[in-house]
Amino acid sequence: MSRVHISTTIRRRVAEAARYRCGYCQTQQAVIGIPLHIEHIIPLALGGSSNEDNLWLACSACNNYKGVQTQALDPETKEQVLLFNPRTQLWADHFAWSDDRAEIIGLTAMGRATVEALKLNQPLIRLARRRWVVAGWHPPTD
Ligand SMILES: [Zn+2]
Repeated sequence: MSRVHISTTIRRRVAEAARYRCGYCQTQQAVIGIPLHIEHIIPLALGGSSNEDNLWLACSACNNYKGVQTQALDPETKEQVLLFNPRTQLWADHFAWSDDRAEIIGLTAMGRATVEALKLNQPLIRLARRRWVVAGWHPPTD
């Protein structure tokens, strides 16, 4: 990813709008203790801007797996669909937690494609989520 200057003010506004959690997997910065990344929803490489309306927070895993993708295959319909946009869409409209809160379930074609493309249910994150549930830190409730 290129290193574009984004002002401290914009970074803070994006982080506050995102409630200091990853827009995709909902991992909370305060739980992992590592700053979340400012992510370009439309990647710079595809002509996306560094304007606030193209920025959101993502954890390093989601940011890396997303890369320059804006679309992915829905594993159910095998159709290419847009990835979830955490700035303009509601997480709960496209995703839900499994009963044990360790896995993210895609509710829509977009949700399913995003779960697959960003590998939102990797074994390590599922293990962490189970511990966070026990501690009462996950999933975020507000
Ligand atoms: Zn994430």
